Amino acid sequence: MSATVAPPPSSFPVTVETLIVGAGACGLIAALTAHEAGQEVLVVERDAVPSGSTALSAGLIPAAGTRVQKAAGIEDTAALFAADIQRKAKGENDPRLVDLLAGGAAEAVDWLCDRHGLPFSVVDDFDYPGHSRRRMHGLPTRSGRELVDALRAACEAEGIDILCGAAVDRLFAEGREVRGVSLLRGDLREEIGCARLILACNGFGGNRARVAAHMPGIAGALWFGHDGNRGEALDWGEAMGAEVRHLGAYQGHGNVAHPHGILITWAVITGGGIQVNRDGQRFWDESQGYSEAARAVLAQPGGAAVTVFDARLAAIARQFADFRAAEAAGAVKTEDTLEGVAAAFALPADALAEEVAACHAGPDRFGRRFDTPPLAPPYCGVRVTGALFHTQGGLVVDGRARVMGQDGSAFPNLHAAGGAACGVSGAGDSSYLSGNGLLAAAVLGRIAGRG
Ligand SMILES: Cc1cc2nc3c(=O)[nH]c(=O)nc-3n(C[C@H](O)[C@H](O)[C@H](O)COP(=O)(O)OP(=O)(O)OC[C@H]3O[C@@H](n4cnc5c(N)ncnc54)[C@H](O)[C@@H]3O)c2cc1C
Repeated sequence: MSATVAPPPSSFPVTVETLIVGAGACGLIAALTAHEAGQEVLVVERDAVPSGSTALSAGLIPAAGTRVQKAAGIEDTAALFAADIQRKAKGENDPRLVDLLAGGAAEAVDWLCDRHGLPFSVVDDFDYPGHSRRRMHGLPTRSGRELVDALRAACEAEGIDILCGAAVDRLFAEGREVRGVSLLRGDLREEIGCARLILACNGFGGNRARVAAHMPGIAGALWFGHDGNRGEALDWGEAMGAEVRHLGAYQGHGNVAHPHGILITWAVITGGGIQVNRDGQRFWDESQGYSEAARAVLAQPGGAAVTVFDARLAAIARQFADFRAAEAAGAVKTEDTLEGVAAAFALPADALAEEVAACHAGPDRFGRRFDTPPLAPPYCGVRVTGALFHTQGGLVVDGRARVMGQDGSAFPNLHAAGGAACGVSGAGDSSYLSGNGLLAAAVLGRIAGRG
């Protein structure tokens, strides 16, 4: 299916005020916001049930200064959050966008709690790399499936229409103004007019040709995001003369259980775990982050590594549905001794023992500071590989989430948000701060929804 832009038909059988393409976190939050602002809203979604990458995620939204944080005794500000985002991205982001997202996150999370009854709590038992405060907010199962289901239920409760099984493949535009879309429902073609359009159809990680063109370093890796992330927002934007930025930016993950294909939370690393290759040797400073871990792991023999941690860290990780699923699938092995872990993964036992002992024995050769308790029996191990999770570049938007043209002026009624817009993860893979994905989905979704 190719995504195109065409002149509008003389009339549309149906016209809505706010039309939203995509029913992930971004599209559904935009819909709830637009509806609350009194707009007539329609969401169109290609899948039979709203899922998106949102459903695959841990569903954690970073936010600074929320009620939930305050109740947990965590002092945090949008300024600290913004500084953390920029530090991780080495200053590569547009500071206005960083301030917009960091400044709007607490309001978005509080609103989801208060107005729509989503029971967010803050992850307060481990640190995410690069965050100077504990500010990741998640629902009880710490899964994005729960998040997207809760947002869909909220839309249903508000009487917002979500048209599923509807793949938009054409935008109708007259000059710089969008007039509507054309979509396929099965074999049936339908046209819908709109006063404004919000592109909430995520990035292009599921489009192998685009991935190979913009991020060749990860092109061969496992794609772990939603297959529906095919880059139509970019296709339409580029056809209309939109400005695009940071198309090489992405979030990878270097802790995906292999061959099971289940995400292992990075909590097992930040709490003191390590990664070793098949020679039983560490190969990098794991504390840098899980995104850049993808390339580090893929560069090892066999493109895989073993993450070694202990029962204390497994207990923390167990709050994540994914980790519990990995345990149930037998991906995580627990052994009384390091020799047992070595045997379970065919690693040289001496090398593994030396690496674990060296962690707290003096300056680390990779520069990591181990200020966590030493690993202690029983020990755990899981074989992992690196994967591409989602792209972070995209359409450049202004402070109202309107798509910007290459001439520097905004398109009057075309918005982009979530993974469809350029986020705040710099230009490559090492600039991704945990939660940047849903941060852009929630805050830009809210801004685009207001219009
Ligand atoms: C395994 C994994 C874990 C992650 N964990 C986290 C996390 O904990 N925190 C975090 O911040 N980020 C996380 N992310 C990233 C996060 O999931 C995304 O950044 C976020 O879900 C993007 O939301 P979205 O609404 O923009 O896109 P999506 O949730 O992907 O929704 C886009 C929707 O648009 C639909 N669509 C696309 N094209 C069309 C079309 N042409 N017509 C109709 N519909 C269309 C798709 O079917 C999809 O349902 C994770 C990602 C992965 C893969």
